Amino acid sequence: MPDMGRLLAEDLVRDVPDFPKPGILFKDITPVVQNHAALKEVVQLLAEWARPKQVDAVVGIEARGFIFGAPIALELGVGFVPLRKLGKLPYNRVAEEYALEYGTNTVEMHADSVQPGQNIIIIDDLLATGGTAAAAARLVERLGGRVAGFGFLIELEFLEGRKVLSPYDVHALIRYP
Ligand code: AMP
Repeated sequence: MPDMGRLLAEDLVRDVPDFPKPGILFKDITPVVQNHAALKEVVQLLAEWARPKQVDAVVGIEARGFIFGAPIALELGVGFVPLRKLGKLPYNRVAEEYALEYGTNTVEMHADSVQPGQNIIIIDDLLATGGTAAAAARLVERLGGRVAGFGFLIELEFLEGRKVLSPYDVHALIRYP
């Protein structure tokens, strides 16, 4: 990928302190997706990263992973698969639980959404601890899919989510040390 210098998207990510709780610096991507040029930049760069992988489908993580995942799937000429929070999907499901700082969370996919042998990329807006993305990978693999990589707009490097996702290919457009 050619060096494009600083991304427009990087200038538009908004820091919101103490959301959703005290001590969390929330990276708000809504100003990025409200801007056509920035939205296009993010979708095209992640699609460029994914294109050589010959993916069969794009899995997007609820909810902000949907915003980028579906247009990336369109760019790649493949379909989009939603990974959702517990209880949202209507049909036959597979579920994975993962640990949070306090308690656990569960994510689900439709059991027929990934076919054995398919090459899958997983998209979300932000990589923090990697717990959500790792659960997504376990679901894809339980359905017989192969995880070809994870694409994010933002990586919070200090949370070391990349370690949790090794040895997969992890690609983030903006990294905060
Ligand atoms: P994790 O499982 O810890 O990697 O958390 C990733 C999920 O939580 C993603 O879907 C992010 O959208 C969200 N998230 C975690 N931390 C932040 C943050 N500081 N700002 C915005 N979103 C976050």
